[in-house]
Amino acid sequence: MLDSKALASIPLVPANTAPPAPAYPWPKPHTSAMFLSFDVDAESAWTSKDATHAQRLITMSYGGYEARVGTPKLLELLEQLDLKATFFVTGWSVDAHPAMGEAILKAGHEIGHHGYHHLLPDPGDPWIEEELERGFEALKRRLGVRPIGYRAPYGEFTEQLRASLVRHGIVYTSSFRDDVRPYRHRLADGRPGAIELPVTASYDDWMHGLSTRFSPRPIFPKEHVLSLWKDELDEVRDWGAMVTTVLHPQCSGRPMRLRLLREFLSYAKSCPDLWITTGEAIARNFQTHEAAAAGR
Ligand SMILES: [Zn+2]
Repeated sequence: MLDSKALASIPLVPANTAPPAPAYPWPKPHTSAMFLSFDVDAESAWTSKDATHAQRLITMSYGGYEARVGTPKLLELLEQLDLKATFFVTGWSVDAHPAMGEAILKAGHEIGHHGYHHLLPDPGDPWIEEELERGFEALKRRLGVRPIGYRAPYGEFTEQLRASLVRHGIVYTSSFRDDVRPYRHRLADGRPGAIELPVTASYDDWMHGLSTRFSPRPIFPKEHVLSLWKDELDEVRDWGAMVTTVLHPQCSGRPMRLRLLREFLSYAKSCPDLWITTGEAIARNFQTHEAAAAGR
């Protein structure tokens, strides 16, 4: 509830004090970028809202689709299009579906951290640290991977998380909605944080194409979504900036959504100025230019 005490506690400063995004160039011949990324939540998308969903087998089956059909179909599409992507995978998903995680890795894609149980990072949440550690542990044990990228489950973030990611050696996060170019976070104590690869909310396929009892939404036809996605991409290309996709195998791995994604990615590939790549590649490009600018 809002009362005068609560309102008085709101700081009179921006929530994000990171400096403006530097205009580092993209690798030649590219003048804009697409961070092609997927969030593999599987059933943890549902149990993170309510642990008793584990007993609701049809609700769970939306997540189960990822391992059975969605992820294999997306991997097939990426191979056909000769594209590499980043998959932010929850620790629970690799524990429950190790073969799915191995298939993503074997296909040469980057694996990122996406929590363990996909819990929403909330202020003062006692789970934040444990979620991070369990996520790292599962990716290491199952896939032998130590991820350098992180995407916050439910796209939420706290100051504690911002500092914690640096302690854990995370190089980049892809969670914030406040820019169209990569920038470097600033921690509360002024030290540099991770690199942010900002998310483009309209590229979250869940918003346009997935509806269930516990996540009811309208579903939009291909033409509508394609029109949104192309307009956003073309304007961003003119700006020399980047877009980030937030695609879920339980949505974009469905037949009509796969058809949409194939068409969109084929269009993106036809743009010679556009660098379609992983989060790691974009973060490394940022680091290279940052070091050069600092004379290192
Ligand atoms: Zn997620």
